[in-house]
Amino acid sequence: MNDAAAASASQTATDLNLDPYWMPFTHNRYFKQHRPLDRLLVGAQGAYYTTVEGQQLFDCLSGLWCSSLGHRPARIVEAVKAQLDKADYIPAFQVASPDTFRLAERIAAVAPGDLNRVFFTNSGSEAVDTSVKIAIAYHRLRGEASRTRIIGREKGYHGVGIAGISAGGMVANRKMFAPLMLPGVDHLPHTHTLKEMAYSRGQPSWGAHLADELERLVALHDASTIAAVIVEPMQGSVGVVVPPQGYLQRLREICDKHGILLIFDEVICGFGRMGDWFGAQAFGVTPDLITFAKCVNNGTVPMGGVIARQGIYDTFMQGPDYLVELFHGYTYSAHALAVAAAHATLDILHDEGVPQRFGELGRKIEDAVHTLKGEPNVIDIRNCGAAAAVELAPLPGQVGLRGLRLFEEGLKRGLLLRYTGDTIAMAPPVITTDAELEKMIEGVRACIRAVA
Ligand code: PMP
Repeated sequence: MNDAAAASASQTATDLNLDPYWMPFTHNRYFKQHRPLDRLLVGAQGAYYTTVEGQQLFDCLSGLWCSSLGHRPARIVEAVKAQLDKADYIPAFQVASPDTFRLAERIAAVAPGDLNRVFFTNSGSEAVDTSVKIAIAYHRLRGEASRTRIIGREKGYHGVGIAGISAGGMVANRKMFAPLMLPGVDHLPHTHTLKEMAYSRGQPSWGAHLADELERLVALHDASTIAAVIVEPMQGSVGVVVPPQGYLQRLREICDKHGILLIFDEVICGFGRMGDWFGAQAFGVTPDLITFAKCVNNGTVPMGGVIARQGIYDTFMQGPDYLVELFHGYTYSAHALAVAAAHATLDILHDEGVPQRFGELGRKIEDAVHTLKGEPNVIDIRNCGAAAAVELAPLPGQVGLRGLRLFEEGLKRGLLLRYTGDTIAMAPPVITTDAELEKMIEGVRACIRAVA
C-alpha cells in the first residue's frame, strides 16, 4: 500500500463504526474504547501485515499459527484464482471434485502409519468434534457402545465446540458455559510445571510419568467406558507446552493396553511446524486419529479435517448397511477454494522441504529465545519445533495484564505478538530470515523491559 492509500484508509478507519462487530476472543470494550488503529490490518505479504495506517508488523505467530509459509505465496494465490475461474462451490454430499480425492490421497501419503482416510471439515473445532464423533461411533459399531467417555488434559485447547471445550482444559473457555459440557469427560493433569521443567530446551527430560495418570483414570472409570484420549502433541494455544520425553509414548502404550483410541489434535502441529509433517512423526508416536486445520492450506481458506487409521474407516464400511455410513458432514467440507489452496500448499511443502526447514528454523529459535532468560519477570522459556514461548510472572491479582501490555509494546515496535495470559508465543513463518529472527527476539526483549 502506498502512502496516499494508507492515509486515505486511515482517515476512513477513524470514522469506522466499531460497535456492530462482536470480536471473537477479544476484549471488545477495551478495543472499542481505545480504537487502536495499529490493530486494524488491511494487507498481508510474506512475513508482514500492513496496518490501516501503513505500518508494517512482523507476523510473529504466522497469523494464528496458520500462515506458516508467509502470506500470499504466489503459487497459492494463483491456484485459488484459477479455481475460481473453474468452479466456486461444489457440494460435498453425494458428489465431489476429483481434486478432493487427490487431496485426501496426498494428505494420507504424508500422514504417519496407516492413517490414510481423510474427512474434511472447515476448522479445527469442527475437526475435534468430528474426531470425537468418529471415536464414539467406532466403538459402538464394534459392539462397545458403553465407550463414550473422552479423556482430555488440563490446559488443553481443542477449539470452541462443545466437544472441544469439554475435552479442553483452559478454564476461561469453559466456565461461562458450564454445565453445558459433554457428560463423562475427565482430564489428565497438565505437563507444565515450573519447578521441574522451567527453561527446558525442547522436550523436558522430566515428566513422562505424568502419563501414568491415565492408568488412574482407567481404574476410576473402567476402560469399558472410555472411547478416546485427546491431546495436542505440543500444546500451542496455552503457550507452547512441550511434551516430556517419553510422555506421548507412554500414553500410546496405556491406550493400547485398554483398547482406547488416541487422538492427536494436530491443528497447530500438523504440516511442518514441528520439523516433520506431523507432531506424530516428530515425536515418534502414531495415534489412531489426527485432527488438522490451519497450515493444511496456509490459512488461505478455512479448512480442517480428521485423518483416521484404515481400520477405523473399515469398521464403518463393514458396519450395518445404512444408506450413509457416517451421518456427519458440513456444507463447506472440502470447499473447492480450500482444496485448491491446499494442493498448492502441499506443492510448496514438498518442493521447498518446508518441514525440514522448520526444523532448522526451530534450532535457531531455540538458541535465540533462551537468551531472554534473566530479563525482568521472565519465569520460563519453552521451545519446540519452530515455536517458542516466554512466560512472565503475572502482576498480583491481574493475570494477563502483563501479557496485554507486552502485546501493545510489540505493536509499537512493529511486532504482532500473541499473548495467552502472561505468556508470549512465537511461531514465525518458515521464510523468516536470520535478521528478522534477531529483530523479533530483540523486540521482545525491549518489550519485556518496557513493561517491567
Ligand atoms: N485444536 C487446537 C490444538 C488448536 O490450536 C485450535 C486453534 N488454535 C483448535 C483446535 C481450534 O481450531 P479453530 O479455531 O480452527 O476452530
